[in-house]
Amino acid sequence: MAEYEKMLENAYATLPKKALEHERFEIPRVESFIQGSKTIVPGFNALIKEIRRDEKHLLKYLTKETGTSITKGNSQLTINGKVGAIQLNKLIQNYFNQFVLCPECKKPDTKIIAQKETKMMKCEACGAMRPVKGI
Ligand SMILES: [Zn+2]
Repeated sequence: MAEYEKMLENAYATLPKKALEHERFEIPRVESFIQGSKTIVPGFNALIKEIRRDEKHLLKYLTKETGTSITKGNSQLTINGKVGAIQLNKLIQNYFNQFVLCPECKKPDTKIIAQKETKMMKCEACGAMRPVKGI
């Protein structure tokens, strides 16, 4: 038993520090690269899954903000223009702050619910509700 406990202790000690920290949410990032005059963003579905929003809405947002047109393949975006990775992630961050993150508790556990004519963002973590425009 003592051996077993010692083993556990060792395993715990070698865990990366991050795993032991209180769960902290990081804004999702995407990888992208420029190909000719286009920007390719693979792994877009993973982002959508993480932020739990309608992909059409995010695409509309990105299209507007980058002033380009965007086509989506299986899980890959093709932006018809050159958009740097920093700029792209900044846009995603803005989107995230505006449409996903709870302004009260700063957690991303929110969902969009329709209340009559108004769309509300409801936080499942703290219960806060606020109207969101343009979603
Ligand atoms: Zn909240």
